[in-house]
Order: sequence, then C-alpha cells, then structure tokens
Amino acid sequence: MEIKNVTIAGAGVLGSQIAWQTAMHGYKVTVYDIFEEGIEKSKEFHKKFAELFVATRGIKQEEVDAAKARLTYTTNLEEAVKDADLISESVPENLEIKKSFYKDLAKYAPEKTIFTTNSSTLLPSSYSEETGRPEKFLALHFANPVWDANIAEVMKHSKTDSKYFEIVKKFAKNIGMIPIPINKEHSGYVLNSLLVPLLSAAQNLFFTGISDYESIDKTWMISTGAKIGPFGIIDMIGMQTVYNIALMNGKKTNNKLMIERAEKIKSEFIDKGKMGISTGEGFYKYPNPRFQAEDFLK
Ligand code: NAD
Repeated sequence: MEIKNVTIAGAGVLGSQIAWQTAMHGYKVTVYDIFEEGIEKSKEFHKKFAELFVATRGIKQEEVDAAKARLTYTTNLEEAVKDADLISESVPENLEIKKSFYKDLAKYAPEKTIFTTNSSTLLPSSYSEETGRPEKFLALHFANPVWDANIAEVMKHSKTDSKYFEIVKKFAKNIGMIPIPINKEHSGYVLNSLLVPLLSAAQNLFFTGISDYESIDKTWMISTGAKIGPFGIIDMIGMQTVYNIALMNGKKTNNKLMIERAEKIKSEFIDKGKMGISTGEGFYKYPNPRFQAEDFLK
C-alpha cells in the first residue's frame, strides 16, 4: 500500500509541525481542526515555518511555496478524511477527547485509512476499540521540533497488524524521520522512558536545594558531551507540560516530593509567565541562554 494523502487531525503545536514536515516531503496534506481558530493558528505556524526554512535551513522559496500548495485546511472531519491513506492524530492529551475523536473518525474514514496517534502519555490500547479498526491503529510519536529532533517512535499495541507497523515505519522514513520501532506497547516510548526520570532527578536536586540549576546542567553537559542540560531541556519542553507530568505522576504514585515540585513549578514559573523558550524566559532567558555562552562550561 502506498501512502499518498495524509490527514493531520488537531492543528496545534505538534499537528502543525507534522503537517509541515509531511508537506515538505511531497505528500498532499489535509489539516483538520475542530475549531476555526485552530486552523487559523496553524496557517500562521505554516507561514512562520516557511520563513524559518528559507532563512535558516537553506531551503529555496520555490520549495516552501510548493509545500504550502500541498496543504489544505478544513474544520469538516468527513471532508478531511474522505481520501486519507494515513491519519496522524494530535488532538489534546485527554482520554475522553481522544475516544470521542476516534468514534467520529471511525464513522467517516474509508476502510483503507491507517490511524496513527501522536499521544505522548496515553497508551493506544486505551482507545483502540473506539477506532473500529485496532489492527490498523498504532502510535507514530514525534518530538518537538519535528525536523530537528527527527526521531519518530512507531509503536504497536497488542492488536496492531505487523503489516501496518511496517508501512508506518516506511512512511516515517519518507518524511525525513528516523523511525524507532517499539515492538510492545510501553508507556513513555523510548525517549520519555529515558528523559522523564532524568528531568525529575534534576528538578529534585534543584528544588530541594542540593545544587543550583546551572551547575546541574554543567555536570550533565561536561560529563556526557551533551549540548544541553536538563534545565535547558525543561525550558524547551515548556513549564506547562513539565507541571502536568509532575502532578500526574505525583498523584498516581502518591509521591509527595513530586507534587510539591509541581506546585513550585506553578508558583515560581507558570504564575509569573515564565513558561520557557516560548515566553522568552524559564530557567534561562532567551534568545541567548547562558548555557549556550562560550564560557559556560569553563
Ligand atoms: P495543542 O493544544 O497545541 O493542539 C491541540 C489541537 O487540537 C488544538 O488546535 C485544538 O483546537 C485541537 N482540537 C481540540 N479538540 C479537537 C478535536 N476533538 N478534534 C480535532 N482537533 C481538536 O496540543 P499539542 O501540544 O500539539 O499536543 C497534541 C498531541 O500531541 C498530544 O497528544 C500530545 O501528547 C502530543 N505531543 C505533543 C508534543 C509537544 O511537544 N507539544 C510532543 C509530542 C507529542
């Protein structure tokens, strides 16, 4: 089966990036969002990505214009999926929203359509029945920003047919990603299984006063050769997500330290508008954070 037409459902931060990456690699892409406002924001994102790709990535104006021409937008789900070979879903990270989205999608999508979810924390099996086609449903998980952190975690659940696992891995490669096969359903995929404990340990060291955030980052950067430390990564991810994860995991495991940490992220950062790179300040100030200064590791 050849993938030609791709539909992106949920045109927010990640959906807009996936749509752009897919269109840049020659696919016809339909961008669907339930809200007109979501569509308008997505068009804004695509305008910015086009400028960014020309200004910083050596891409020709004709190429970004061609990618733009391959993108269409709609708030009508039936219209959005009528000829889709593959759907990449990035609706909000909420089980009820995902379930209701897949129930609607199942009504309109043709039989051929493969469904993929970009969910970061919810397991595909928890809403696979709503898809009406569990064998053609799996996770295709991107990282932010899609084109720089270009891994795509392709994860089966117990009812995914291997045939579609192979097709989705190939599709990921075709849109410039490095597919990471995950053969068994696993919460956190590979990346977050590594990253969440690292960021959690770093925050504990900082919020309990054991060390300061710059020293923690320096330790990590010098000893592993990484270009960025845990607090630089936290700024990149954004405080809202970091807060949500700490609160969710803290409540799930009844971990008092984690819940307190979430509260500190809220009072010291979110309530002060320091959301990370997106607002120009988190732990570091942007666009020129201290950890990128020449003397930072000296
Ligand atoms: P977002 O809030 O930026 O975007 C969500 C979009 O979905 C919004 O435009 C919203 O209008 C739209 N929407 C809401 N309900 C909808 C519905 N029923 N049908 C269609 N569209 C609907 O969220 P995001 O950060 O892009 O995250 C979306 C998904 O991507 C989540 O599952 C998240 O776990 C995953 N993800 C996010 C990141 C990240 O860094 N932000 C990274 C990897 C994966």
